[in-house]
Amino acid sequence: MADLYHECGIAAIYHLPGEPHRLAPKGGPSQVSRHIPRLLLDIQNRGQLAAGMTVYRPTHPQLLETYKDVGTVTEVFQLNHQTDATALMDRYAGVAAIGHVRYATCGGDDRGNAQPFERHHIEKHKWFAFGFNGQLANYQELRQEILSQPNFHLARDTDTEVLLHLISQQLSGDRLPRLIDVLSVLSQRLDGAWNIVFLNAQGEMAVARDPLGIRPLCYAFDGSLFAAASESVALANLGFRQEHIRNVPPGHAVLIQNGQLELVEFATSPRRAHCFFEWIYFANVASTLDERSVYLTRKRLGEELARQETLTIDENTIVVPVPDTAKAAADSMAFTLKVPSVEGLMRNRYMGRTFIEGTNREDKARMKYTPLPEVLAGKRVILVEDTIVRSTTMKVLISQLKDRGQAKEVHVRVACPPILSPCFYGIDMTTINQLFAPKFMNLGDPLTPEVEARMADAIGAESLRYLSFESIARSIDLPSTSICQACLDGKYPTSAGKQLYQLELDRMHIAGVQGRAFDR
Ligand code: SF4
Repeated sequence: MADLYHECGIAAIYHLPGEPHRLAPKGGPSQVSRHIPRLLLDIQNRGQLAAGMTVYRPTHPQLLETYKDVGTVTEVFQLNHQTDATALMDRYAGVAAIGHVRYATCGGDDRGNAQPFERHHIEKHKWFAFGFNGQLANYQELRQEILSQPNFHLARDTDTEVLLHLISQQLSGDRLPRLIDVLSVLSQRLDGAWNIVFLNAQGEMAVARDPLGIRPLCYAFDGSLFAAASESVALANLGFRQEHIRNVPPGHAVLIQNGQLELVEFATSPRRAHCFFEWIYFANVASTLDERSVYLTRKRLGEELARQETLTIDENTIVVPVPDTAKAAADSMAFTLKVPSVEGLMRNRYMGRTFIEGTNREDKARMKYTPLPEVLAGKRVILVEDTIVRSTTMKVLISQLKDRGQAKEVHVRVACPPILSPCFYGIDMTTINQLFAPKFMNLGDPLTPEVEARMADAIGAESLRYLSFESIARSIDLPSTSICQACLDGKYPTSAGKQLYQLELDRMHIAGVQGRAFDR
């Protein structure tokens, strides 16, 4: 799937007082910030628009310093130029750091929206920086509330600035609030998905996860070294052993204060609402989120696809994954059906975020994948995709498989149920109009073979089958009450999410209304 993006990824690292850890860089504990680009590289699937980090250096006049820019992690940290990258890391060496990769579902794509956001202040506990992963569903209410106060101004159209303001408010005045109390107050104000890495000029760090645990957040602690990242793969690749890697429980934060680390609960968690999309598409296949392996989930989705398959299999039948995220599901489906899983579609790995003049979404999809006629010609292709959101890519792929690849038939199998409603928690699909499935069925309607046949027709495939709603919780191996599936069933886990959905439905019925309910 090529046309869906994630909001962001966050990372943090801290070398606590004590013996230099075996994973500390050559320069010693005061240089652990050098690991931030590496952590961010492993979660770059979550955002490639901008990257940055803030470091804490107790012996430097500039106690906190932020470096950030637009571009991929490699571009921002100049990782293709050893001398430049080393000089940059020398300049920003610190004993603690937070990092961020960004994709925008809210706000523009200029450097000013890159994170971490830093707020400078003469008082050390009020001088802080933070990175944010998620999306505030009650952003507009919070924004209006702030702007309604005389002398208050917001310069950017992004929920991160609102968050900056809310944290600053908590730290204002002569009080010296505890970090746990700041988070506790935030949890009463914020609605939606919000994971935060926070660092202040006193060298205090907080790594917090919202009470529903919508987005994943992992940490590792071993002796004197602490690190955190949106996904476990970043911590494992840094060198932490599996037994040291854990999830931040919803409503909890890891706090580092006075050289001590503790896991604290700052808000009770009414229920869990882990985004199911993380397992089926967004997360790195090597990650384990909330004790559930991404790879094994995708493998089980493929087995579910195989179980419901009714197509007559002959020697000309092949399974072709849409690279790369559908590969685990396609391989296990093929294995179960005893059909070869072959790479009939090659993905151009070097396209990245390239801008080529005059190209639209279809052109980009065409340039991104190359069909192989030597694999596809004359074949009945079972094309496995992880989900269909807008269908632009899928249409292009099917025509490419048939025209250039000479495939005889293309049968699309989707390792997910139809996406019928928008996401207000950090995934780039915020209107019903942009979605494929609602053009053929309404929320609550049964998905019949006739509906699937009409959908197949619309994308130029011989047939199309989705997975059932129940198969998702089964494959992740979590109760459906612990996962968010609002984009499948319209049951939003927060009150602002419910309100935005109602507004979106109302908006759809008013002819000529454009834009997103989120922007109203
Ligand atoms: S609405 Fe869908 S994409 Fe958004 S958080 Fe819930 S499950 Fe994930």
